[in-house]
Amino acid sequence: MHTKVLIIGSGPAGYTAAIYTARAGLETTLITGPVIGGQLTRTHQVENFPGFINIAGFDLMDNLKEQTIKTGVTIIQDEVIKLNTTTKPFEFSTHDIPKGTADTVILATGASPKWLDIKGEEKFKGNGISICATCDGFFYRNKTIAVIGGGNAAVYEVLFLSKIAKEVYLINKNKALSGEKKLIDELSTNNKIKVLNNTQPLEFIGEKKLSTIKIENIKTKESTLLMIDGVFEAIGTIPNTQLIKDQLTLTRKGYIKTNKRTMATSVKGIFACGDVQEDTYKQAIISAGSGAIAALSAEKYLL
Ligand SMILES: Cc1cc2nc3c(=O)[nH]c(=O)nc-3n(C[C@H](O)[C@H](O)[C@H](O)COP(=O)(O)OP(=O)(O)OC[C@H]3O[C@@H](n4cnc5c(N)ncnc54)[C@H](O)[C@@H]3O)c2cc1C
Repeated sequence: MHTKVLIIGSGPAGYTAAIYTARAGLETTLITGPVIGGQLTRTHQVENFPGFINIAGFDLMDNLKEQTIKTGVTIIQDEVIKLNTTTKPFEFSTHDIPKGTADTVILATGASPKWLDIKGEEKFKGNGISICATCDGFFYRNKTIAVIGGGNAAVYEVLFLSKIAKEVYLINKNKALSGEKKLIDELSTNNKIKVLNNTQPLEFIGEKKLSTIKIENIKTKESTLLMIDGVFEAIGTIPNTQLIKDQLTLTRKGYIKTNKRTMATSVKGIFACGDVQEDTYKQAIISAGSGAIAALSAEKYLL
């Protein structure tokens, strides 16, 4: 198969880029990847995407998908497993497409959750340890749970889980939370939530099921055992750059290096947008904005 524009990823960046290139009359193919709708589908409510006072992350991404389909984009539910940025046209393959080519490529592969990588984590992943409150919160009705993290995503998870669970510990390694003030204020008046600052998890413990976290106060080095029924990790993300590693210039932290005015990467004709490329703020509106820039630049490149 051949397409003029190949967009890899179905988060806010990918869908927005696709809407722009399709509306410019360019034949556009978007490959969704394993997480259709991207990271926002993991959050129960979004209150900072312009035009929506309050919308479930899943619904927002469903709207975007519908809008993308209406512009005539071909959406393929698959994952790109290979991309060659040295050929013209660029060559790619997916699980179902052995050889595809594209005149230009927009990388919008976003980021995946980071794991703590501590003792006991592997044993209880998916069986007491989760990274998605929207998906797994339901299993902890009236139970005691802990969320690990200290940024916006962790604060969102805690607020959501406090509506389901009996009590929620927030384990934060820093001396204060770094999320939005409005959310932190909401959290501090919720008596189901207990914030443990300056605290880090050392080990997950349990027989068949997770039952305990060994935690340490970073300042005093004192360790204690916290009895819980489940844990949600929200400690940040790592960029999904496996496809282009060793092909494009990356930043020190492993994000794709882009020209912020054009979203061009180090290879002509390949653009990147959203969380996979170096950016200070990881937000849906910023990803969508950079998707629009990448699309307009791709359009110019194809002239
Ligand atoms: C719990 C949580 C809550 C959040 N809440 C908010 C909020 O309220 N407001 C806000 O503005 N932001 C929020 N964010 C941040 C926001 O979700 C991200 O900034 C945004 O989703 C990034 O968009 P993206 O399109 O760059 O990438 P992503 O959303 O990460 O999407 C990446 C896409 O790439 C696809 N992909 C990856 N590899 C491949 C491959 N090889 N082939 C094909 N496709 C591939 C994936 O399947 C996915 O569809 C939240 C994030 C989390 C985790």
